[in-house]
Amino acid sequence: MGTNNKVHVKKGDMVAILAGKDKGKQGKVTRVLPKTGRVIVEGVNLVKKHLKAGPKIRQAGIVSQEAPLHSSNVMLICSKCGAPSRVGFAVTDDKKARVCRKCGEIADKV
Ligand SMILES: [Zn+2]
Repeated sequence: MGTNNKVHVKKGDMVAILAGKDKGKQGKVTRVLPKTGRVIVEGVNLVKKHLKAGPKIRQAGIVSQEAPLHSSNVMLICSKCGAPSRVGFAVTDDKKARVCRKCGEIADKV
């Protein structure tokens, strides 16, 4: 319930990919799409996109572009453990913070 979405990662986070064709890869979150609960991870889940020449595109061709992944398919890599870890939430100084469930390291304030 509530207005908070379930996206547990933020832009700039290093994450491990848990599912899909890039399972096992790691990358940096470059975009979070809270409305759909999806994230874009640098160099992960690349799809080929055909470009048609038009007013903005000088040359037709194929480009690779990152497609959004559902946030449930990525796991935050703890900067202390260096391993993908479940994220818990803790309240410190009346603020919610993300906490690594393995080592207890506080990732940051939310
Ligand atoms: Zn940790």
